Amino acid sequence: AEQHKYIGIVEDCCCDYETVNRLNTEVLHPLLQDLVKTPFYRYFKVKLWCDCPFWPDDGMCRLRDCSVCECPESEFPEPFKKPLSQYNPVCQEGKPQAAVDRTLDTRAFRGWTVTDNPWTSDDETDNDDMTYVNLRLNPERYTGYIGPSARRIWDAIYSENCPKYTSAESCQEEKILYKLVSGLHSSISVHIASDYLLDEATNLWGQNLTLLYDRVLRYPDRVQNLYFTYLFVLRAVTKAEDYLGEAEYETGNVIEDLKTKSLVKQLVSDPKTKAACPVPFDEAKLWKGQRGPELKQQIQKQFRNISAIMDCVGCEKCRLWGKLQILGLGTALKILFTVNGEENLRHNLELQRNEVIALMNLLNRLSESVKFVHDMSPAAERIVGGQ
Ligand code: FAD
Repeated sequence: AEQHKYIGIVEDCCCDYETVNRLNTEVLHPLLQDLVKTPFYRYFKVKLWCDCPFWPDDGMCRLRDCSVCECPESEFPEPFKKPLSQYNPVCQEGKPQAAVDRTLDTRAFRGWTVTDNPWTSDDETDNDDMTYVNLRLNPERYTGYIGPSARRIWDAIYSENCPKYTSAESCQEEKILYKLVSGLHSSISVHIASDYLLDEATNLWGQNLTLLYDRVLRYPDRVQNLYFTYLFVLRAVTKAEDYLGEAEYETGNVIEDLKTKSLVKQLVSDPKTKAACPVPFDEAKLWKGQRGPELKQQIQKQFRNISAIMDCVGCEKCRLWGKLQILGLGTALKILFTVNGEENLRHNLELQRNEVIALMNLLNRLSESVKFVHDMSPAAERIVGGQ
């Protein structure tokens, strides 16, 4: 019954809800689901030891000692080799579902250079603190990370970096930053609702449609921002069509790597998507006014702050996905805003392997969220209406 709220063009985008749902269900979601399983896309390199610059007092950073690592000891990152008992770890989030399962990838990825992303705070240069995480073993789902620590992160992100705009006083660009963060927040909530620990005693996992309704569906702007963020990232991926289509996806597994390349090509140049939603988001209309360059720098700084805040997320798996998705958004921003003009993009765009992995995995997460919201809204609203 509530579906009527989502008719017409997604605000600030160029496609309507119906088209997005159809393209997502028929084309993009199935392709992305296959793509993120390929060897190239399933490993993410990340520094999970947090170095929280904002609240050094609160003990969250001791989490490195609370992680569960299931790989053989010989593969442990150096810091793990110290006996755990020596630390007497006090976990804030000791639940196993909050810990990251590190599976190190021994294969080399070739053909990718290290470049900086001006939108994010992380130094992506390889170092000993980086570890490879198999994303398929660590789905983004309910972890039990709730309470003041989680709330403080979201509050910091919203109040310090992108206060909710009022159309009178906030410009288009700031509004977009807010919508991207809100859309990502919606998506995280949707994943919590779609994979929830229903009964701790029996370890029963399943969907929590009441939570879906309470956190997302009952606020139409949160749903709208989810669709907006999805289209924004989709635009970045299709804009980088040439780059992504020609990139090197070599991991040493010839058959899988060919499949990866073919899936990427299908995704970035799908004729149905091009026909139905040729420009999912029109970035050309931004940064136009006199304050354009200054505004871009300011928003870039705000986004870098958001990226730094991810180091303070006090649950390891949440931090993993937080970092991945913020890097994915930063990569979308880099593609859309760092290089001007289509021609320049072809020659000047340089992405890091990790950025590309983050970008596609983010798009997949958003695509899953859009699908879950679309498929489950009627049932969720029936449940809540019947209470
Ligand atoms: P929260 O989701 O914490 O929201 C706080 C406040 O923000 C709300 O009261 C509301 O005012 C506002 N708000 C909520 N949604 C939106 C929106 N879409 N747009 C704008 N404003 C909004 N928990 C897990 O179980 N698994 C995870 O993988 C996970 N990953 C996380 C990653 C990050 C980066 C962070 C910061 C937290 C993560 N969490 C995760 C915690 C989770 O997001 C919630 O904070 C937690 O479940 C508590 O939820 P809550 O109901 O208090 O509201």
